[in-house]
Amino acid sequence: MAELDRFKAALDKSIRQLRELSTEKTEDGGQPVSGIFSVHLLILESSLVDKVEKVISTQRVNAEWAIRTVLDDYVDRQESVSDLHIKEKYLDLEDVTNRLLSALGSVQTPTETDSNAIIVARDLTPSQIMELAKSKPAALITENGGWTSHSSILAREFRLPMVSGVRDIEHLAQAGEQAIVDGNNGEVILNPGDRCLAGFQELAAHDLEHKRAVCTFAGTTKTLDGTSIVIRANLDHSQTYEAAAISGAEGIGLFRSESLILKPGLIPSEEEQFNAYRNLADAVGEVGVNIRTFDIGSEQLGDGSGRAERNPALGLRSLRLSLLKPVHFRAQIRALLRASFEREINIILPTISGVSEILRAKDIIEDEIVGLSIKRTEIGSPKIGAMIEVPSAIFTINDIVRNVDFLCIGTNDLVQYLLAVDRDNDAVADLYQTLHPAVIRAVSKILSAASDAEIPVSVCGEMAGSPFYVPVLVGLGAREFSMNVNSIQPVRRLLSGISAIDAAKIVEMIKPLKVAADIEAFLSDYYGKNLNGLFPPGLLDVRHR
Ligand code: PEP
Ligand code: MG
Repeated sequence: MAELDRFKAALDKSIRQLRELSTEKTEDGGQPVSGIFSVHLLILESSLVDKVEKVISTQRVNAEWAIRTVLDDYVDRQESVSDLHIKEKYLDLEDVTNRLLSALGSVQTPTETDSNAIIVARDLTPSQIMELAKSKPAALITENGGWTSHSSILAREFRLPMVSGVRDIEHLAQAGEQAIVDGNNGEVILNPGDRCLAGFQELAAHDLEHKRAVCTFAGTTKTLDGTSIVIRANLDHSQTYEAAAISGAEGIGLFRSESLILKPGLIPSEEEQFNAYRNLADAVGEVGVNIRTFDIGSEQLGDGSGRAERNPALGLRSLRLSLLKPVHFRAQIRALLRASFEREINIILPTISGVSEILRAKDIIEDEIVGLSIKRTEIGSPKIGAMIEVPSAIFTINDIVRNVDFLCIGTNDLVQYLLAVDRDNDAVADLYQTLHPAVIRAVSKILSAASDAEIPVSVCGEMAGSPFYVPVLVGLGAREFSMNVNSIQPVRRLLSGISAIDAAKIVEMIKPLKVAADIEAFLSDYYGKNLNGLFPPGLLDVRHR
């Protein structure tokens, strides 16, 4: 049976690779690099192999599917045990799975591909997306993740249509077949018929026309009734500010500084960060850049101290990690203080849960200011902002605004934490409701607290870059947005076609609605009747269904 032969060949190849790896020495000829590969070899010599073969012959599925079925079952069992040492071994199983799959030629380490190909994968990490982008694939589809996952955000930045959270896609899609990937609406159509294909080709042509029309539009952003709106860019790596400036961005509203950490453990030194921040601020000029301190989990520190956490999104991460292990935080603050000398750089503190974390972070900042001043190092005086994305921060927002210079609303995490829905988990993707009444009320509360305290507030999650949500945000009172570079032009075009007064009326109309789906349906209908032509082609049609 062909699939059994494929599996056996992949198994032999993986075993050969692992034998080589398990005897490989360190660069100075010392001990073998790691015993880990011997463990992987043992896994491949266990009863697992028989099980995969059995699944191939009895269920008549391909080798990839059989490997997944058997190994997923092992991983699930491993993950559910309470002993941490055993539990962590599931990572080895994942690794072995990936090795077998890549030996089969299945896309597991997709770093290059033919341009125009559609990449189908279980997961794509942000760094894989950066690699893949170089060969310009036509589109990406993943089984895991959601539209606010960092990989999806990055794909948008590279203008790669991506649909994530498509269950079983690796099994359902066959190499060489045609597919339509509708990144605007999160839809994948396998083996489309001629009419369907023609319909989408027409839509794609309209989309291009819409984009071309949008690109001729320049100047400061004002709504129809003359309300000024500040549009900034979210950046993950410094090279792209030029494109943002051409699109009309007025500075960088969010620089995710953790993008400077290329691999776990490779935390850039103070000097490297100083250079990166200084170059970025020089490229942006007086409109300035808001740099968020590392928003990472402890595993990114790569020092072996990061344990596998049951709920990493609620675990030791972001500012709480910075406060618990301040060595890297202090180095980052020094780099930021130095880079901000005669440059417009502000600091954003991520995922804060209340005033106490802000005060502790500010104490450290103060301490570093004193230290650098004693050494007579030239430093600037960056403003300190808080990223609001946790429910406890919303309930204490009136105290928070008295302790910071500005706010950013991180709607990606705000929705996740407010609704207790993992933003990266496709199993709950339908529950990730950006228009949930609780989200709308939370945003409204944050905006009014900032307005009362007379401090600036910028909306900077993916919600801010989506034409569908922008009228609601404007109606709630948002006047500053920071977004993915490729969202800037469509959002500016939309803003030029709506008035702030009408946006406020829209918000009044959705206030009585209690269910996200009803709000969505209302907006689709309203936009279709009153604001048609301002949205990317096809966006409203699909939401009507
Ligand atoms: C957010 O949470 O909305 C945000 C802007 O930050 P990130 O997507 O990096 O968590
Ligand atoms: Mg966030």
